[in-house]
Amino acid sequence: MEGKKEHQTKTDRITIKADGALVVPNIPVIPFIEGDGIGPDIWAASRLVFDEAVRMAYVDQRKIEWKEILAGEKASSKTGNPLPEETLQAIKDHVVAIKGPLTTPVGKGIRSVNVALRQKLDLYACIRPIRYIKGVPSPMKYPEKVNMVVFRENTEDVYAGIEWEAGSDEAEAVIDFFNDRMKVDVRKASAIGVKPMSEIASRRLVARAIQYAVDHDLPSVTLVHKGNIMKYTEGAFMRWGYEVAREVFKDRIVFESDLGEGPGVAVPPGKIVIKDRIADMMFQQVLLRPELYHVIATPNLNGDYLSDALAAQVGGLGMAPGANMGDGCSVFEATHGTAPKYAGKDKANPLSLILSGVMMLQHLGWQEAAYAIEHAVEKTISEGLVTYDLARQMQESRELKCSEFGEALVERL
Ligand code: NAP
Repeated sequence: MEGKKEHQTKTDRITIKADGALVVPNIPVIPFIEGDGIGPDIWAASRLVFDEAVRMAYVDQRKIEWKEILAGEKASSKTGNPLPEETLQAIKDHVVAIKGPLTTPVGKGIRSVNVALRQKLDLYACIRPIRYIKGVPSPMKYPEKVNMVVFRENTEDVYAGIEWEAGSDEAEAVIDFFNDRMKVDVRKASAIGVKPMSEIASRRLVARAIQYAVDHDLPSVTLVHKGNIMKYTEGAFMRWGYEVAREVFKDRIVFESDLGEGPGVAVPPGKIVIKDRIADMMFQQVLLRPELYHVIATPNLNGDYLSDALAAQVGGLGMAPGANMGDGCSVFEATHGTAPKYAGKDKANPLSLILSGVMMLQHLGWQEAAYAIEHAVEKTISEGLVTYDLARQMQESRELKCSEFGEALVERL
């Protein structure tokens, strides 16, 4: 900018040190995928907020250099491939990326662009913080008691994509193998799906969840599983989870089962309680006693259901942020889909993507910019300025377009 020669101008890549810590330059290049459907609308509003928050927090000393990369419909129409190799390489090279929602083109040989992206980059932890923002309409009496972070395993379980259609040669061959070799009884002409769950994937997910509790000084980590029925998959997830807790974090944790029962039970100071809950029971726990849960570690399918149900408790999917993280790189993303009926209408709520960006700024260590956005979100909503999805649930509110909501946030940064 004219007359401000002291400003930083050199862009650079984010890198990772051997211990996993990020090295973030003052002007990092961050790839973004705009997304399909409502993607362009919510991205435009979000980018404005990110840029202004960074500019105001660091008085032009820091800035994000955005680099567009293609996936979904835009990539299909330009390259014929919904998930081009250059996109994956750009995320690997730049370590941190952010994305809007993506449509998977029907019949193009790829099950889901989102699932493929997570699997190809080994983004094994889907992290979804669920926290109530004051003023947001909620079906809960005390939504402020909900304050959890869900760590959902992202690479295996029934999401591994190993399944065969009923009546196909493959399904019949697997059924024959089960019936003849394994001596179990599977009905002929059944559809078949496979649920692989490994020790390595379960342990690294639970270790990441416990490390998060350590880093953020949180009181508990709950392993959510369905091990009472699926003993060798979900039951093993729980067992491996307890093992990694004992082996890696033994000085920091205590098992709930060792604490005894009753109202007088005291947790030793500084210790994180490791506990487990059966998945179906957990759905009523988070409704009736949400204050007892802080970090949740769970396999893929449980995590999918539970994180969306929790999002509904604090305002719905239009506001729920998320990140997919591996040991190498991280992709921050809106958790809802492309909401095609609102595409191009400048109507959708950009908060899911904006709050995912807040997670990204925290990950970069740019806490001041992250805090400024969180504060602006609370202030804007408490003034009753919201997009259609919240306006229809709030008696006293003014409905803003997606872009107007972004501008209202910027004014309150
Ligand atoms: P969706 O796109 O999430 O939309 C379902 C409904 O949720 C919308 O009609 C709207 O409800 C509400 N909603 C979602 N995002 C919103 C926002 N930002 N602001 C306000 N309301 C919002 O789910 P879908 O219709 O099942 O999926 C559509 C496409 O998205 C599919 O192709 C699917 O594969 C894809 N998808 C992508 C991702 C991803 O990229 N991570 C995730 C899920 C789905 P109302 O109509 O009630 O207003």
